[in-house]
Amino acid sequence: MDNPNISSPDDCLFCRKEIVEKSFSQSLNFKAIYNIAPILPGHSLIIPKSHYTSLFELPDTEIAEMTVFAKKITSVLKTFFQCDGFDWTIQDGVSAGQTVLHLHLHIIPRKPLDLPEGNEWYSKIPENEEKLLDSQHRERLNNHEYIAITAKLAQAAGSIP
Ligand SMILES: [Zn+2]
Repeated sequence: MDNPNISSPDDCLFCRKEIVEKSFSQSLNFKAIYNIAPILPGHSLIIPKSHYTSLFELPDTEIAEMTVFAKKITSVLKTFFQCDGFDWTIQDGVSAGQTVLHLHLHIIPRKPLDLPEGNEWYSKIPENEEKLLDSQHRERLNNHEYIAITAKLAQAAGSIP
C-alpha cells in the first residue's frame, strides 16, 4: 500500500531546478526561499537541500544547523519587514497538513494587528501550500516581483554574518 508520507525527489516541487535556484540565502545543507504566495510580507521557507520528507529523517547535527540558520534568516526578515515577532511552523506528515512532501519550515514575520485574528495564519498554511503548487494562482507574486524581493533579501542576508 502506498504510504502518503513518502515521496520521491523526482516529483517534488522543492527539488525542482527553478526552486533550487531561487534561494536568497543558504547554509551548508539548507536554503532560504521567499514564499511566492506569502501569507504576510516576509513569509519565507527554510528547506533542506537534500530531499527529506520529515524532521525525523534529519541527523541531529542538521536539525541544529537548520535552527541556527532559521534564526539568522528570521532576524534578517524581522529587520527587513520591520516586524517585532515571528511564527515558525512545520507541517510534518499528511495528517498534520503537509502538502509538499519535502521538509520545510515556514517563517512568518509578525507585527501588531497584521491579521484580524492573531493566530489566523495557521489555518492558512495548507491553503498556502496549494498556492505554491498552482502556478496559475492569482495571489502569487509575478516573476518580476519575485526576483526583486529575492535580490533585496539576498543583499540583506549577506550583510549579516
Ligand atoms: Zn524534494
